[in-house]
Amino acid sequence: MNTPVITDSGLAGAVAIVTGGSRGIGRAIVEILAAAGMNVTFTYRENAMAAAEVVAANPTGTLVAEALDVRDSAACSALVEKVAERAGRIDLLVNNAGMIRDNPLTALEDEDVRVVLETNVNGTFNMARAVAPFMVSQRRGKIINISSVSAEKGGRGQTNYAASKGAINAFTRALAVELAPRNITVNAVAPGVIETDMSHDVRARAGDLVLSRILLRRIGSPQDVAGAVWFLASRFADYITGEILHVDGGFKME
Ligand code: NDP
Repeated sequence: MNTPVITDSGLAGAVAIVTGGSRGIGRAIVEILAAAGMNVTFTYRENAMAAAEVVAANPTGTLVAEALDVRDSAACSALVEKVAERAGRIDLLVNNAGMIRDNPLTALEDEDVRVVLETNVNGTFNMARAVAPFMVSQRRGKIINISSVSAEKGGRGQTNYAASKGAINAFTRALAVELAPRNITVNAVAPGVIETDMSHDVRARAGDLVLSRILLRRIGSPQDVAGAVWFLASRFADYITGEILHVDGGFKME
């Protein structure tokens, strides 16, 4: 007997939360998931105009934007409950919100270390901890964390950021073990250098040097990363958990 070939991603009608969806990589993730027919709520921290633009530019009409600082755990729980009440379930969480404060170690202020770890690490904890009970009771769900090539490849002036992304990789593997018995997968996508506001300074300062170290000899686009997130969110990745998928044009290897 022939098994039918499945080409449907299984995403249509499913419910997603994406943090930091107002700009850059997060926006591209929101757009690809909405185009796949998902019901997407995305968050932003303060840039309400950019968030409104994402909603206005989307033809599906299924996008909702919510202001949220992922460092605030009570606010994360409240947001997740609101989405669950509105949509009835939560199938996917993409922890994308993140920030950098690059500087050599001795020039880093306490605040530069604190704010990066709180946003990138605590924010990921806060959101995952808030969605987990819903996914556990559904016996189904996916969590995708946006890490960085910096977790594995040393980058000058990035000790705080690299530490935060290394923590995200470790968190991803540990949570994958914890949630696998409940049919919940946990993976990470680790981008290289992607053309967004975040990488503007490094591209302006050392663009040619960076390019020479990327095997594919181009800076990545937000859509390159969004495609990997779409794959991990889709039914084609149902048997993948605890993985760190690099989307870096080979940067990690140079
Ligand atoms: P951007 O700076 O372009 O966008 C950051 C997004 O995160 C915005 O939507 C911003 O909201 C939101 N955000 C920031 N802080 C908070 C917070 N405390 N609470 C809630 N939302 C917040 O970043 P990128 O698109 O470049 O990066 C997205 C992710 O990809 C990050 O995790 C980053 O570390 C990672 N990454 C990026 C790379 C790159 O080269 N660009 C490379 C590797 C990883 P608002 O618009 O309101 O400010």
